[in-house]
Amino acid sequence: SSAVKSDIEIAQEAKLAPISEIASGLGLEEEDWEPYGRYKAKVSVKTLKKFQEKADGKIILVTSINPTPAGEGKSTVTVGLGQALNRIGKKTVIALREPSLGPTMGLKGGAAGGGYSQVVPMEDINLHFTGDFHAITAAHNALAALLDNHIHQGNELNIDPRRIAWKRVVDLNDRALRHVIIGLGGKANGVPREDGFDITVASEIMAILCLSEDLKDLKERLSRMLIAYTYDGRPVFVKDLKVEGALTLLLKEAIHPNLVQTLENTPAFVHGGPFANIAHGCNSVLATKMGAKLGDYVVTEAGFGADLGAEKFLDITTRAGHFRPGAVVIVATIRALKMHGGMKKEELKNESLDALAKGMENLTCHIETIKAFGLPYVVAINHFIFDTDNEVKYVKEWCAENGHPVALAKVWEDGGKGGEELAQLVADTVESTENHFKPLYSLEDSIEDKLSAVVTKVYGGKEIEYSPKAQKQLAKIKKNGWDKFPVCIAKTQYSLSDDPKLIGRPTDFIIHVRELKASVGAGFVVAMTGSVLTMPGLPKEPAALNMDVGPDGKIVGLF
Ligand code: ADP
Repeated sequence: SSAVKSDIEIAQEAKLAPISEIASGLGLEEEDWEPYGRYKAKVSVKTLKKFQEKADGKIILVTSINPTPAGEGKSTVTVGLGQALNRIGKKTVIALREPSLGPTMGLKGGAAGGGYSQVVPMEDINLHFTGDFHAITAAHNALAALLDNHIHQGNELNIDPRRIAWKRVVDLNDRALRHVIIGLGGKANGVPREDGFDITVASEIMAILCLSEDLKDLKERLSRMLIAYTYDGRPVFVKDLKVEGALTLLLKEAIHPNLVQTLENTPAFVHGGPFANIAHGCNSVLATKMGAKLGDYVVTEAGFGADLGAEKFLDITTRAGHFRPGAVVIVATIRALKMHGGMKKEELKNESLDALAKGMENLTCHIETIKAFGLPYVVAINHFIFDTDNEVKYVKEWCAENGHPVALAKVWEDGGKGGEELAQLVADTVESTENHFKPLYSLEDSIEDKLSAVVTKVYGGKEIEYSPKAQKQLAKIKKNGWDKFPVCIAKTQYSLSDDPKLIGRPTDFIIHVRELKASVGAGFVVAMTGSVLTMPGLPKEPAALNMDVGPDGKIVGLF
């Protein structure tokens, strides 16, 4: 048999349809979209108004168990399920996040799906795409420059340079930029102060772009962003600097969802990509809403496991976008379940029903989470070629015994065809199961009660411990009236707890909230737990070492 092809080899062999065909297949007219080359387009936000009267399609959210180094394949299943739903006759659109260059250069693994379930052109999508992230980076850093300039030019607003709440960003993993000192070199070069960089996907502007309903909403949210405090402790917002117009201008193209296609020509919106810890971790609400307007189904994905991405999708994104999900697909792999059951990564090729049985605890927790939100769900086993028949049988029987709908998805090796069983199950579930969707907490609850709801009902933790710093910040958040926002917990993705080493299903643990921060523009209160980084570093062997482009322009090593 021939060697397994890499994602990029498969993608390079694909027969792409011109983007005009994909757009007209969705019922779009020429005035609705703008081409970005032959295979990409931006669909105007105005299109949503045009289709206002049309009923929304069903929103299917794809989430997973806690990620492990073995890989879960959420994006792969999202793309494969979208392709499969089309194959069984359901008009389906996919909505995904845009990849960040940080992880692309760092870890092995793109973010455009994998195998025969990918969105294409994957090289573009994984690199500069339609420039959205560059625009967000520019808008973020323009604000930083305008803020420092304000201080340099006389500081009319009385901003305390020691209490600036707005860092700079770059869309790379660059640990050397976490803490920097700027403004050195004397009077002509600004006011020296401590600063730092986050990765672009951690920018509040990224979160805002993904939660905004239109340009007006975008501008209002940008104007509300908290950027500093004055010497006498008053908050300073973007509107005080009067630059929300300029920032919105820099984002006027980025706000329009990007349309591409899958290897099987299924339409896909790839738009926005906030972190799933410090931010809410979902593609733009505009992309999801557009998918729901143009399809009978839209399949979207939330970052990391159901404890992070799905919880935030259900408590934050649905509120901002005013939509109701139809069903949730929980992706698990045999390999990852075995790791949660205590197996080492090197041993995963060996069959082990014991490790698998133990690992089911992690899946159980995430199923309970989705049930707590009142939503219909389906378990998808993302099949790897090393999985043994015994192992697959075990998981299927376990699900059947416990009353969980389950399907084996072979979308990585067979594309949409390999996902038909899953697609049929999803369609049957969404059409026949009662949907009692309700967010986990009310916005009127206190911040402590909201955090406690997530910690006890989703993570399975015992209680929360607040650092003295967090307690002070909590008081300030209440004083400023920011306590009616939903909460956004930044936590390690590897564990249900805030300790990445506690895999499986830990119990009786305490969540340590070390810092609280109001993202006033995005509209949520971030609780930082454990040691989550907002600027990742590169690994010892970055993926970049394998990348190259030949004299003919042919790319290698982009996974
Ligand atoms: P996630 O969305 O959970 O981060 P992805 O779908 O992006 O995961 O997949 C991560 C990597 O794993 C990709 O390179 C993809 O090709 C690979 N992968 C996913 N599913 C499979 C599978 N069933 N078999 C082999 N490789 C897979």
